[in-house]
Amino acid sequence: MPHPTYASYLRLDELLSSQQPLTPPEQRDLSDSERLFIVVHQASEILLSQVLVDLGHLDAGRCGRSCFTHRVDRAVRLVDALTGQLTLLRRTLRREDFLRFRERFGTASGLESEQFKELFLRVRRLTRHGGGARPPEEARHLGELDDAVRRWRSTHLELVGHMLGDLPGTGETSGGRFLAARLDDGPAGERPAAQPPRPDREPDREPDREPDREPDRGDAPGPRALPASSASPVPSAGHRLRHVVVVGGSVAGLLTAHVLADHAERVTVLERDHYEDAPGPRAGVPQSRHTHVLLTSGMNALDELLPGLLTELAEAGAPRLAVPGDLGVWQAGQWISRRHPSAPIMTPSRPLLEHRVRRRVLAGPRIDVRTGTEATGLLGRPGRVTGVVVRQRGAAHHTRQDLTADLVVDATGRTGRTPQWLAGLGGRSPAEEVVDTGRAYATCVFHADDPAGDLRGFYIVPDAGQPFGAIVLPAEGDRWLVTLSGPRDEAPPTDPEGFTGFADRLPHPAVHKWLSTARPVTRPVGYRHTANRRRRYDRLGRDHTGLLVVGDALCALNPVYGQGLSVAALSAVALKRELAGGRVPPVHALQRAVLRSSRPAWDVATGADSPMPGAAGNAVRGGPVARLLDRYLARVRDRVPGDPVVCTANRDVLFLLAPPRTLLTSPRVLRRALLTTAVPTPRDLPTP
Ligand SMILES: Cc1cc2nc3c(=O)[nH]c(=O)nc-3n(C[C@H](O)[C@H](O)[C@H](O)COP(=O)(O)OP(=O)(O)OC[C@H]3O[C@@H](n4cnc5c(N)ncnc54)[C@H](O)[C@@H]3O)c2cc1C
Repeated sequence: MPHPTYASYLRLDELLSSQQPLTPPEQRDLSDSERLFIVVHQASEILLSQVLVDLGHLDAGRCGRSCFTHRVDRAVRLVDALTGQLTLLRRTLRREDFLRFRERFGTASGLESEQFKELFLRVRRLTRHGGGARPPEEARHLGELDDAVRRWRSTHLELVGHMLGDLPGTGETSGGRFLAARLDDGPAGERPAAQPPRPDREPDREPDREPDREPDRGDAPGPRALPASSASPVPSAGHRLRHVVVVGGSVAGLLTAHVLADHAERVTVLERDHYEDAPGPRAGVPQSRHTHVLLTSGMNALDELLPGLLTELAEAGAPRLAVPGDLGVWQAGQWISRRHPSAPIMTPSRPLLEHRVRRRVLAGPRIDVRTGTEATGLLGRPGRVTGVVVRQRGAAHHTRQDLTADLVVDATGRTGRTPQWLAGLGGRSPAEEVVDTGRAYATCVFHADDPAGDLRGFYIVPDAGQPFGAIVLPAEGDRWLVTLSGPRDEAPPTDPEGFTGFADRLPHPAVHKWLSTARPVTRPVGYRHTANRRRRYDRLGRDHTGLLVVGDALCALNPVYGQGLSVAALSAVALKRELAGGRVPPVHALQRAVLRSSRPAWDVATGADSPMPGAAGNAVRGGPVARLLDRYLARVRDRVPGDPVVCTANRDVLFLLAPPRTLLTSPRVLRRALLTTAVPTPRDLPTP
């Protein structure tokens, strides 16, 4: 029998003739929009059919353990692809088009999808009745599937809300609000009459009316014997939180407070510093004197959280640069060509950014801030946090006070003491993962002319073979922030001459030459706590409740990659999405969502730092597979300067626009990294 052709094998004739918009072809633009709508829904149904095949295999009990993991994992990825389809529609389908062609559907509605009904039923059956009795590894995979379906639902809800607002839905439902009310239900008519509680989450309850107060136990609350399982009802999942306390009023804490304020009766932000009226460095954020970049992903996330903020920053003088178009980026022994496609970054000073975020967030309803107030411990018992112990700074001990909350958010940054506080309650502390290269920083502010060649800054990237780095960027107020870095035992000096002299050790003379003509306006300041450190609060267990950890307190990254602020913003967006259904999921689900949002940055930073000389810590990547991966990534890096495709893919990963695995899975990048030789770029400063 002859082999089928590509087209006959895939039945392309049938497939490609199945898009039949109801809009007349004369209305070409509208008809094409409707076609997009049809294509995305058809593609979703096809992907969904594969999910059901995989889950059907599990249901039939035909799977051993590795088959189970493989099938569930595949289903998770497919459901994530379905979520991606919704995002695609949200980004590409104009609302006004949708509202026009939707008239023609009659009452046809997404809720009629038999396959989606089937999916919800199967997932509910697997996770609710079977999940608890399974081995932990299988239960974990099912939890991920459940999370993926929740993500699909909340993205679907967001899409419907965006397209319909409060207009009625086509299935004679009331659009966005109707779906919001149903986010935790199956599709219409499919909800079982009585639902047993899920084994993996707290039963949904209204919050307790009276907060239980713990006695004041000061800095080191003593252990209590009550095990988590005997805790009284926990208001961790339900419609609305009564009181959220956010400890730490810097970028991560403020953005988290902003998101949670939509789901709480009130939010109190505690900050140990006093805020100044104008932007300025402050003691609680020692890194505020150092160069900070806002990556493209962070800009997008901030724009979603606080629309108009980027314009405010630009109006206050924050520069916006194209990378690599505006920068001299030195990597792998060469300048990166400035003609490669660029993406934007912003370089407000850290105090300006925080000041503008603060002004916007604290103007919101339901948020109070208490400055000069330091948290000194947690209230609660093992597995359950019920509030914080606070004291007024500079006041005597008797000012200590208990502040109860049904959710405490730890946003105390890199030096946060929550692990010790949890231990003080007699509970478990999170496991810690560390990769520390010992990189030492120093930053100095200069007045100077623009560097030669139309450049607006430099980024000299250190690597395993070349340990010195530099970041030179403009900030508002006609200033240049210059950060130099070196390995543990070769820290940049903090006297002005020594600082400038240190730049001579960089692999190209351009920065030193420019710096020699610049005028310092501050003394250089050093910084040494640059380890990548991640605390696994997500592994404290599903019963652990009342505490959510965000920002650097959860995942602090080597600053050389400039990711921390963007991760804080991306995490707040992840939280927003997780809460999009209008109900507050268990804290554990929120914690996992926040951790997940920081994972690409963690993988980038620890992946790049692991092969550095002197890298230490329990999460340093090692072994033959890691070495092979490092060899491949070194080939990728070598091709970045001269190859626009590899440069763009690599930049998207560094800017947290694409997951690191794309460098391994993109056929174009693979082909170039493995089959081509690196194209050298000129040694002179790169021209535009
Ligand atoms: C040298 C350096 C350079 C960096 N460069 C960049 C960059 O270019 N781009 C980028 O995106 N990121 C950069 N980062 C990372 C970025 O600064 C952090 O990721 C970001 O500030 C994290 O914000 P956060 O809110 O989690 O913590 P922080 O900003 O550290 O804030 C913690 C807050 O908690 C308060 N606090 C602490 N303990 C208590 C307590 N017990 N009670 C009450 N309040 C408390 C502190 O006063 C502070 O306000 C850099 C970091 C460093 C160190």
